[in-house]
Amino acid sequence: MERGYVQIYTGNGKGKTTAALGIITRAVGNNFKIFFCQFLKGTDYGEIKTIANFPTVKHERYGRGTFIRKKEFVTDEDIKLMKEGYESLKNALLSKNYDIVIADEIFGALKYDLISLDEIKLLIKNKPEQTELILTGRNAPEEIIELADLVTEMKEIKHYFKQGVFARKGIEK
Ligand code: ATP
Ligand code: MG
Repeated sequence: MERGYVQIYTGNGKGKTTAALGIITRAVGNNFKIFFCQFLKGTDYGEIKTIANFPTVKHERYGRGTFIRKKEFVTDEDIKLMKEGYESLKNALLSKNYDIVIADEIFGALKYDLISLDEIKLLIKNKPEQTELILTGRNAPEEIIELADLVTEMKEIKHYFKQGVFARKGIEK
């Protein structure tokens, strides 16, 4: 790519991670190299198995393999794993080895103070010219939105989660 931009997928509706995965599908078809990391996610996701067959995608997952729902549930282990994860993400981004770098649910890590606003800003400000940086997660802060080039809010109109339908295999995981 001649020039990479900063994209954000945020909001409370479904589609943030799906959007990132859609771009991966498109980019792999063009032989792009992609670094796709996920903060605070569980382990059993269909996309991980799919991506394992994509030769140009490197995938990393940061966390204990559980979805954190409350700040009280954050452990020292989580803090350590996120620090290591952030370093790995930063190194991948600065390496210029990838056309696209995706940090899925990075705003979730921010919410639980597992990474800081300054750390996210540092990524955006030091992004190599030719690398596309994609950040996802609910509640992207205004300060970060201002630094991005493309911001899409997934707005919940309806979600079956409210009817008690939790993440389903092949659809949400
Ligand atoms: P997808 O991965 O399907 O594109 P997303 O990345 O936009 O969704 P996240 O915010 O990452 O959505 O949500 C992950 C999971 O959290 C969802 O699969 C869903 O089961 C669950 N969830 C919890 N609360 C809600 C809610 N209010 N609305 C939607 N999903 C919710
Ligand atoms: Mg998501």
